[in-house]
Amino acid sequence: MKIAVYGSGYVGLVTAVCLADLKNQVTCIDIDESKISNLNKGLVPFFEPGLDELIQKNKSRLNFTIDAKSNLKSAEIIFIAVGTPQRPDGSAELKYVFQVVEDLSHNLTDNQLIVIKSTVPPGTCQAAEEIIKKNFSGKFAVLSNPEFLRQGSAIYDFMNPDRVVIGTSKESASKLLAKLYAPLKCPIVTTDLISSELIKYASNSFLATKISFINSIANLSEKVGANIDDIAKGMGLDKRIGPLFLKAGIGYGGSCFPKDVKALLNISQTNNIDFKILKAVDEVNESQRLIPLQKLEAKLTLKNANIAVLGLAFKPDTDDLREAPSLTILKSLLAKGAKIKAWDPVAEEKVREIYQEVIYCPSPYEALEDADALIIITEWPQVKNLNLTKVKNLMRNPLIIDGRNVLNKKQATKLGITYLGIGR
Ligand code: NAD
Repeated sequence: MKIAVYGSGYVGLVTAVCLADLKNQVTCIDIDESKISNLNKGLVPFFEPGLDELIQKNKSRLNFTIDAKSNLKSAEIIFIAVGTPQRPDGSAELKYVFQVVEDLSHNLTDNQLIVIKSTVPPGTCQAAEEIIKKNFSGKFAVLSNPEFLRQGSAIYDFMNPDRVVIGTSKESASKLLAKLYAPLKCPIVTTDLISSELIKYASNSFLATKISFINSIANLSEKVGANIDDIAKGMGLDKRIGPLFLKAGIGYGGSCFPKDVKALLNISQTNNIDFKILKAVDEVNESQRLIPLQKLEAKLTLKNANIAVLGLAFKPDTDDLREAPSLTILKSLLAKGAKIKAWDPVAEEKVREIYQEVIYCPSPYEALEDADALIIITEWPQVKNLNLTKVKNLMRNPLIIDGRNVLNKKQATKLGITYLGIGR
């Protein structure tokens, strides 16, 4: 099929490239000229494993442009995958989505499908329909098709989804979109527009709830002398609970969970629903990321202390820093006069733009030289596989705050390292 995708960010670009790999002809439209110019030179604007190679493999089926007008007419399906960032009141900023809808409404041809893949509050697709009707009198359909991919495994997730959700009021439109996804061989949930929009917020908020729940149990474990790893294992083997998203740590970050939880709270508030559980999920997460600092300050004075920080991205395999706990932690450490050496294999450059005072090291071990403490923020494989004897020998004071519970506590303790994890 001929496809157009608005937005060449994490979701739009991955969607476009994967659909091209499924033998569709795809045009990627973005307003960011430098992004499009780089993509035309074969340069991917962010780090996502396997994406460069997949773009190269499918370059004959991909077209990158800022010119929507001349590329839209031939598209059978038009995806909208632009950002919906958080507004100060927690609600989703929809101006980018509506800008695209307004623009394309002047350039539509009959029978095109407009598919909103961006995460948007209930009612947004219907509002988009109204905008289009004002400017276009032909036949069209607006569909909701939220995306569930995770940065870091985005290509795998797109190609192997647990389900595809399609929201629409028009059966023929949902059939065409389902045909596009048919090669993925997964269940397709077809529903009305509003339910589809809400499925995305409900899913992300539920996963965030699991994380804040296990983190609260971890905090309790510390007080009563239990081990959160064993607790998570004992809970996760129960099929009704499942093992995923039960890893205790310093909380969730990234561009989705924090903003989607806040947006769902805002949607609930607007509809006079007091979503108490979700408020707590958000509060627990905010306080969880401060735990490494509290543990550190209980052990040493931060002024002039050498602190090694390993991992800066909000999770491994991405360079994304949106809502990354590292930013809060670095800010507090610097404010308290600590001297920081940090390492991250891909996110370093972006953090350097924010915190020039930090020394960025080419390897985790260089960050550890003469350190008074180590804080683990992102569970990169290089961090999980640290040689603890080497760590102990490099540090001036062997104190580890393991914010992701990835190191072997027994081994660390045996080596004489003061090891503080989360709930273990
Ligand atoms: P992003 O910020 O990485 O990319 C958005 C892109 O849209 C940018 O390149 C921007 O230049 C472009 N854009 C803005 N206005 C435009 C316009 N008028 N025309 C064309 N392009 C325009 O965002 P993202 O992380 O890809 O997220 C996109 C949406 O998908 C959001 O609603 C997000 O919540 C949702 N989502 C994200 C993820 C994720 O892991 N990042 C996963 C699932 C869903």
